Amino acid sequence: MIVLKNSSELALMRIAGRISAQALQVGGEMVRPGVTTRQINQKIHNFILSQDAIPSFLGYGGFPASACISVNDTVIHGIPGDEVIEEGDIVSIDVGAVYKGFHGDNAATFPAGKISPEAQKLLDATRESLYKGIEAAVNGNRVGDISAAVERSIEPYGFGIVRKFVGHGVGKEMHESPEVPNYGVPGRGPRLAVGMTIAIEPMINLGTHDVKILSDGWTVKTADNSLSAHFEHSVAITENGPVILTKL
Ligand code: MG
Repeated sequence: MIVLKNSSELALMRIAGRISAQALQVGGEMVRPGVTTRQINQKIHNFILSQDAIPSFLGYGGFPASACISVNDTVIHGIPGDEVIEEGDIVSIDVGAVYKGFHGDNAATFPAGKISPEAQKLLDATRESLYKGIEAAVNGNRVGDISAAVERSIEPYGFGIVRKFVGHGVGKEMHESPEVPNYGVPGRGPRLAVGMTIAIEPMINLGTHDVKILSDGWTVKTADNSLSAHFEHSVAITENGPVILTKL
């Protein structure tokens, strides 16, 4: 069931979204060679608590940290730890905060120092595909219009669009209906309506779309060990078009 949000609920979601966006910024500013993913997670964790919010990810399904930090060929769900970031790495941070019962959810991939032109292209293409998806998040459209917009945006690059993991509704639960795939057919899927709030999150690989899950049960890597990028915003469908909730 898709849960629509009224205006007072949307106001809370804007706050949750802003805190999530600030937490992502706090993490992104720490991405540089020599820093561990655990240090980044700690700073994000402390920031979210300082905003009278709760990290959405901490304990979710048993996840042991407040942010997913996924380096290079890790697509999503990287567990922060002793891994030291090196020059040229790309670092995806996915973080959400719950404020007065409502979640925000967002992600971005950050460069550590100077990255390869190929990696830069992957980051730029993935970010662009997110915004193409958001543009299609219009009242009366269908979820497939968002999916197709992301897919069309990536197609010219020949990058792999992850299929095993998809975007989702967001609200009182971090993951609600509907699913929002990053590939699909225009005009298909649930109809978008005013009051819907969804997280759009393309995960794009430099190589094929195939992924593997490591034995820790969380870490998702590209099957061919190619680089992967991830950008995400929580978005509200409004009468005046899509509104990005996870905005600074
Ligand atoms: Mg998400």
